[in-house]
Amino acid sequence: MEKRRLGRTDIMASRLGFGGMTIPRVSKKEAVATLQKALDLGVNFIDTAAAYGRGDSEEKIGQVMKTRRHECFLSSRTKDADKAGMARAIDKSLRRLKTDQIDVYGSHDVSTQARYDLLLGPGRAIEALQKARDAGKIRFIGVTTHNWALARKMIQTDLLDAMLITYNISNREADGWVIPAAKERDVGLFVMKVFGNSRLLRLTPTDEDRHPTVRECLRFALANDDLPVILTGAKSPEEIAENAAIVEEFEGMSEEEGAELRAFGDRLSRGYCYGCDYCMPCPAEIEIPRIMRILQYRERLSWEWPQITAQYRSFERNFQDCTDCGQCEERCPQNIPVREWLKKAHQSLGA
Ligand code: SF4
Ligand code: SF4
Repeated sequence: MEKRRLGRTDIMASRLGFGGMTIPRVSKKEAVATLQKALDLGVNFIDTAAAYGRGDSEEKIGQVMKTRRHECFLSSRTKDADKAGMARAIDKSLRRLKTDQIDVYGSHDVSTQARYDLLLGPGRAIEALQKARDAGKIRFIGVTTHNWALARKMIQTDLLDAMLITYNISNREADGWVIPAAKERDVGLFVMKVFGNSRLLRLTPTDEDRHPTVRECLRFALANDDLPVILTGAKSPEEIAENAAIVEEFEGMSEEEGAELRAFGDRLSRGYCYGCDYCMPCPAEIEIPRIMRILQYRERLSWEWPQITAQYRSFERNFQDCTDCGQCEERCPQNIPVREWLKKAHQSLGA
């Protein structure tokens, strides 16, 4: 399989990477078989996170790393945001992954200013990461975020070597600032959610539309030369083989196919909140993007997890605090009726 350089890490990673987010949903036997198949097919970049299945993803990957660690690069991260928590989390990930070194390690979902502040700066988690790098426990520092403004800010610190971002036919926000900034600073980008968390494959299509296919979604990401590694979250050997075959046969995309897929993605993304944060700050200090995100989990993906309600109720400010100033709606590029959605969230999750 074709290999690409992952920015300043100089890691030569396979174009298709193994995303470990979905393996907590399958048995250990199936997860191990899927990862074995990925390695057999030449996939050499394995990404996971301590939060995926609360360590289950790392543990399942560790079962394969016992014998095949030398065949791949490992990437993981933690939601433990402070310095001491980061140091402990690195050791736990090493134990679960059954290795003495992780290639890329860092902070998970740095999408709020509070998490950014915990990661970067004197006395912050970045120091634990740098210490672990000096001790050889990790090789490079990475991060993942859903906030484009913070993504660019983090790239410009020059403290990070790699970044995991979202990119798909209906979410191409990274094209604007983040990809050019990463290119300029030589930060290695790897990409998740090429199927939009499977959202794109499961959306209820409008009358004139249909679902995009796995092939279309994957080809669209592959066509972007500035994205060296594309992760997919396969749950079976067959799925990873299907993904690998698409990558192997890819020989570029015509202007026409690219334009069609972009237009298709635009139609699908109409009215969808991407957590871009442009609506912030809210004078009433309501965390609008986070409320929008969990409302969408419920409304568009029909997720009914109790955690969604619990998370909503943990927000200190909500619809009831809105002063109706309308600033959020003026700034939202997706034209989302924020106030109406906040009300809906409160009615369905806050009561
Ligand atoms: S509501 Fe609009 S501006 Fe706010 S995060 Fe969502 S898409 Fe971005
Ligand atoms: S309309 Fe409400 S939610 Fe929107 S910015 Fe104003 S106070 Fe915040």
